[in-house]
Amino acid sequence: MSIRFDDQVVIVTGAANGLGKSHALEFARRGARVVVNDLGGSRDGSGGSGEAAESVVSDIEQAGGEAMANGANVADYAQVETMVKEALERWGRVDVLVNNAGILRDKTFAKMELDDFKRVLDVHLMGAVNCTKAVWETMRAQEYGRIVMTSSSSGIYGNFGQTNYSAAKMGLIGFMNTLAIEGQKYAIKVNSLAPIAATRMTEDLLPPNVLGLLQPEAVTPAVIFMASEGAPTRQIIAAGAGVFARVVVQETPGVFLPPENRDAEHVAAAWEQIANTDGQSELTAGGDQTMKFLQKAAAELGIRLD
Ligand code: NAD
Repeated sequence: MSIRFDDQVVIVTGAANGLGKSHALEFARRGARVVVNDLGGSRDGSGGSGEAAESVVSDIEQAGGEAMANGANVADYAQVETMVKEALERWGRVDVLVNNAGILRDKTFAKMELDDFKRVLDVHLMGAVNCTKAVWETMRAQEYGRIVMTSSSSGIYGNFGQTNYSAAKMGLIGFMNTLAIEGQKYAIKVNSLAPIAATRMTEDLLPPNVLGLLQPEAVTPAVIFMASEGAPTRQIIAAGAGVFARVVVQETPGVFLPPENRDAEHVAAAWEQIANTDGQSELTAGGDQTMKFLQKAAAELGIRLD
């Protein structure tokens, strides 16, 4: 079964380069009308020009597709609102939003200015929040939507020199978790990508001999799947070099400490057991943890919960 986006409108932010460009071209190839958003700045977010987005639009048009260029800065809500308004005026709906735009301002935390921290949060996290806010009512009203966040292994697992970027990228996972719950009733599915690709963002971070394996096109199928009608929701797909994996947050069964032993010394003594991953499980809402803890405590204390 082939995945198509005929009559669907897709917004890809940061689509003039790297991963976003690859996603935009593939959506167009599969029949979507694509808003190619890009501020056109440099890797650290400085400067800007609409030319790069226009060149992707002309590639799409030359291949017989439909697209419009947009130069909004995703960190500026008014500009994002105008982008969505223009897409709605021209095409009447927005089915898919891929929050992909991003910048880097790497430094160790000791050397990082707070301004570099805030700027990275502003583009990655607030940029995604702004774009999502601007399409949310439309998706709710049409009872259909697909939103893809672009997270990163740096956020999920950590990476030296990227406290700002890591905080933003893990923030997007939290944003996704709750948005997916709130969107369920309206058939809005929200997922996240953790990509690895050779782009201008990573060309000097990755060894040259592996760059050839890491084409952005090897990541895009995960985004197309997460944006498709049959998409799952609240999932994180890691993708790179043609490898696709699901990232899962799990919690250990935990240890109950009775009131007489409930102190830091007993936590320290039980640490090995607390950290033991045997029998760990995935929880899919915050309330599930509350229930799990209450049930465990009640069972240990011989109390009925109902
Ligand atoms: P890239 O620099 O090639 O592309 C990012 C694009 O975003 C650029 O075209 C840039 O102009 C645009 N952009 C930046 N700030 C913007 C703003 N405020 N408004 C609109 N557009 C803006 O980098 P990439 O590697 O293709 O990165 C794409 C996404 O993937 C980013 O969110 C990045 O953090 C994420 N990511 C990439 C990798 C990787 O290995 N390349 C790994 C993990 C996550």
